[in-house]
Amino acid sequence: RCGYVAIVGRPNVGKSTLLNHLLGQKLAITSRKPQTTRHNMLGIKTEGQNQIIFVDTPGLHADADKAINRYMNRAAASAARDVDVVVFVVERTRWTEGDQLVADRLRGLKTPLVIAVNKVDQLEDKGELLPQLLALAEQHPRAEIVPISALRGTNLDALEKVIMQHL
Ligand code: GDP
Ligand code: MG
Repeated sequence: RCGYVAIVGRPNVGKSTLLNHLLGQKLAITSRKPQTTRHNMLGIKTEGQNQIIFVDTPGLHADADKAINRYMNRAAASAARDVDVVVFVVERTRWTEGDQLVADRLRGLKTPLVIAVNKVDQLEDKGELLPQLLALAEQHPRAEIVPISALRGTNLDALEKVIMQHL
């Protein structure tokens, strides 16, 4: 099996952390500061006969007036169209306008979608995620929802398995 996987989500949900953990090496820059990843980054994972090419996207940015934000939005949007699987990363404890923006962009997407609910290790709850998850599940009936911790590596084997099913 071989295929392309885009990792999308608003800034700071843990996309680059996830990619680094999946690849077992530091590739994408991770930081608390949003917009640390400005370009789409590719990471290749080879295991036996299988090869997954991950695309870490810069994330979508609401303020489309800024040229850099427009550029990053285009990069993320084109990545989502040109891959075999899209992994939409959200935070377990927080749903923001940024998440909604990404969810809106993914409406009607034909590419198989996996929703990775990240930071399950965090205990502090900053908002109710369930209604948004249910809405997503309704918009994407075939999407699988996988709880993960990109930081600790929790359940990433399950995430990979789900991804592989679509390649
Ligand atoms: P990106 O903007 O989506 O690429 O997010 P990053 O990967 O740069 O991560 C943003 C922040 O979230 C960093 O401080 C990470 O250490 C933190 N982070 C990422 N994944 C997790 C996780 O599973 N648990 C916790 N507690 N923090 C995480
Ligand atoms: Mg990043």
